Amino acid sequence: MTTQETRSSAVLNTPAMSRDTMRYETAAPAIFERLGVVPVVNCCGVYTDLGGSVLSPSVWAAMAEVNTSFVDMIELLHESGQRIAAMVGAEAARVVPGASAAIALGTAACIARSSGAISEQLPNTGAASRDVLLQSGHGYKYDRCVSLAGGRIVRVGDDNGATLEMLDSRISADSAMMLLPAHLDGVAGTVPLRDAMALARRRELPTFVDAAYMNYPTSLMGSFTAAGADLVCFSAKYFGGPNAGGFICGRRDLLDAVTGVDFTRYESGQHLKFGRAFKLDRQTIVAVVVALEEWFAMDHGARWQGYSDRVQTILSAVRDVDGVQARSASFTMDERLVAEPVNCVMLEFDAHGPWSAETVATKLAAGNPSVRTVQLNGSLVIAVDALLDGQETLVADRLKIALGR
Ligand SMILES: *Cc1c(COP(=O)(O)O)cnc(C)c1O
Repeated sequence: MTTQETRSSAVLNTPAMSRDTMRYETAAPAIFERLGVVPVVNCCGVYTDLGGSVLSPSVWAAMAEVNTSFVDMIELLHESGQRIAAMVGAEAARVVPGASAAIALGTAACIARSSGAISEQLPNTGAASRDVLLQSGHGYKYDRCVSLAGGRIVRVGDDNGATLEMLDSRISADSAMMLLPAHLDGVAGTVPLRDAMALARRRELPTFVDAAYMNYPTSLMGSFTAAGADLVCFSAKYFGGPNAGGFICGRRDLLDAVTGVDFTRYESGQHLKFGRAFKLDRQTIVAVVVALEEWFAMDHGARWQGYSDRVQTILSAVRDVDGVQARSASFTMDERLVAEPVNCVMLEFDAHGPWSAETVATKLAAGNPSVRTVQLNGSLVIAVDALLDGQETLVADRLKIALGR
């Protein structure tokens, strides 16, 4: 897994208005043609805007199988949650439509707790506690999901960041939750997750850890609840599950509260619950479970080797091109290029050479299929971890053409 939604400075290429006439007769879905949309070869990584992830044949088969029968969704959510909880070593878990939904539903659960009446009036919280503590260095794009449920973000910290004492002093009767984005743990001026969680536990304030992509090594997934997190969420797009899937796990009483605010029993129950707009298909629920099972059973060494092989194929197309330096690299989750483990080709361009990252990216994006790459600080990143098997050959060919070979 490489790219993710937090890579704010990376530029995903959009196709030019006039498209190359060149066509690749690959298995482009006929439905895209009928709808008039251009298929994309994804050299960016996992991006919601490009469709998220590719489902494995067995995940896809499970979804097809599910389509042949109805099921009691309440029972399915409960049993699938048990299965997920066992895998990640949490007391309880529940499939939700993505990590963003998990933040909204988790916030709603921490505000409403067991009150159906409060769930019904959210995002109006009435007299219920609704403050969600967030360290100033922990601000990120998805903290906005807190307010969907009526949570009020309380940013803690001054110019030098936040301290444990500041966090302690801001916990009050108005506090509902502390939000902790796991990928920002260790950022300068922040209290480490572990210490913040210990404090919150002492003060009996629930913690919510956004661990959306903290799924590798797989042992990482259980580490947050083990370290004292009350609620933790993961996005399925990062473990080969559906783009519109994910799960929330943690303390049983809080998972009961999540059940109390989510979409089930909207019409059949007593309350018009907050989470009705966050509904799930049975296919998605099953796909999240099967994808997670596969993720735990996967030979991840072979996965990384597969990326490395694809990178070699693409590199062979760009060797010895004047004005371009190509090498293998690792496009990290926090948007840096490092050496290992290899998951991309990185192209650097001579300042006065014939090509730039932008011109090459634009050419690649303009064809059909549209090959989308990432521009980063003047370099072109060609990530291979979201490619379908065999597409590396197509990417190599298109790159040769773009570089006039
Ligand atoms: C992608 C992402 C999310 C949102 O996840 P969805 O499942 O797409 O809703 C939240 N937090 C982080 C850190 C992410 O990368």
